[in-house]
Amino acid sequence: MKASLQGVQLPKFSPWTDKRKFILLLSVMLLCAFWLCAWLSYQVAYQSLREQVENNHLPLTSDNVYSEIQRDLLQPIFISSLMAQDTFVRDWAINDEHPSQDIIRYLSNIQQRYQTITAFFVSLKSARYYHPNGILKTLSINNPDDAWFYRVIQLPPEQDYEINIDYDTADTSRTTVFVNYKVFDFNNQLIGVTGVGLNIEAVKQLIQLYQKRYQRSVYFIDPLGNLSLSGPDYTGPRNISLREGLAEHAAELLSQANGRYRFKDHHQQYYLNARYIPEFNWYLIVEQQDLPASVQLKHTLWFNLAISSLITLLMLILANLTLGRYQRRLETLATTDKLTGVYNRQSFEFHLEQVLDIQQRAKQACSLIIFDIDHFKQINDQHGHLVGDEVLKQVSKLCLEQVRQSDVVCRWGGEEFIVLLPNCDALAAFEVAEKIRLTISQQAFEVNQHQINLSISCGVAQIKTHEVLASLLIDRADKAMYQAKQQGRNRSQIAE
Ligand code: GH3
Ligand code: MG
Ligand code: MG
Repeated sequence: MKASLQGVQLPKFSPWTDKRKFILLLSVMLLCAFWLCAWLSYQVAYQSLREQVENNHLPLTSDNVYSEIQRDLLQPIFISSLMAQDTFVRDWAINDEHPSQDIIRYLSNIQQRYQTITAFFVSLKSARYYHPNGILKTLSINNPDDAWFYRVIQLPPEQDYEINIDYDTADTSRTTVFVNYKVFDFNNQLIGVTGVGLNIEAVKQLIQLYQKRYQRSVYFIDPLGNLSLSGPDYTGPRNISLREGLAEHAAELLSQANGRYRFKDHHQQYYLNARYIPEFNWYLIVEQQDLPASVQLKHTLWFNLAISSLITLLMLILANLTLGRYQRRLETLATTDKLTGVYNRQSFEFHLEQVLDIQQRAKQACSLIIFDIDHFKQINDQHGHLVGDEVLKQVSKLCLEQVRQSDVVCRWGGEEFIVLLPNCDALAAFEVAEKIRLTISQQAFEVNQHQINLSISCGVAQIKTHEVLASLLIDRADKAMYQAKQQGRNRSQIAE
């Protein structure tokens, strides 16, 4: 049976915890470095994405929507322009607006032909509001409902018309998009305002179309922040100051011609572009929820984190294996005798104290055998040192074969060995010593075609109940061994 280092529960050396510390430090450093890189690149990508949306995409969409809505309102502007320049309209107005039936028929005709929901003419002179249904009213500068007219006639000379969204004079329950066009006589004197009105539902459908085209929310708010026009599926509050996250920007938004904002509503990130449209006296709002590619970026971040963690793990396994191998080699080098492979003296002394301590506390017998090869000098002298070395190897091998797995064999020095036998009293140890001695003395050692016979002398000692010093035990066994030598060698002796 072969005795090994595993036989006895030996205390571990500290390099193990050092290795653990090293590997822990390495993993923390690697993970920190990897994760920091992944996080930084995510931040950079996210930042540039955000800048693109804020500085390019949203303003561009706003420009597009603005020009599209102008283009889509071009036809009614064109119709209104034709009406304003129609010689019939101008002649009729100059001729004291007589007969009124003529203009009413004319307006009715326009409304039918161009499918507008209203057509009108307001005279500056009489302030009468002409409509396909007749003269609806006479405007008054004191009536707030008529403010639009007095605003249009005071438009700067280079501005021929305005687009206004207002309640229809003909049907006050209906909001209508009006084109209000200035009418001049042949001497370029302002004589009235004419134009057509569009169904607001049609304009809402247009907004819906823009939203689909640009994949962003589009709506209009008035200078007080109230929602004025939106697509049919708008679900936000009626005023922007009621919108979570946007409320704090409301005052700023409504005081600037142009602005870009970022806010959180119900834990969602929103990007918003606001632009004042003087023709409507409204703000065009284009907004989008989150960055479309941010989900992809997040996936990439998680993927990077996972990959770097995996690489760290692999590197750690590799480091652990390599370090473990080197550590085991170092441990073996430090604890075993190079020539014979059994324990060396330093490591044996280190362990002996602790093994004895355990045995003492467990109140168990523990013994020790010291043996020395008889007349070993002669073997060296006769056959040379190398042969002597080989003999030492074979002796330790034979010895290992004679002891239990829990016993510890050590080369104490030169050609002297110690066997530590836990749970073993002096008599049993004596028997083991005899077994080793007989085996060695009966063995014909063959080295380099030399036949060598040798014997050993053994000293056996059992630890005493209160013997705390291991050196005392060794000392007693050593003395017993010398007794054996003195008594003629090739024998075993138990210490007193
Ligand atoms: P005794 O019976 O009294 O023990 O006689 P001995 O000749 O064995 O005497 P001693 O123990 O004093 O001699 C030990 C010799 O072992 C001396 C030394 O040259 C030799 N020796 C010690 N270490 C080694 C070694 O590693 N290899 C070899 N080949 N010889 C060694
Ligand atoms: Mg000797
Ligand atoms: Mg000796």
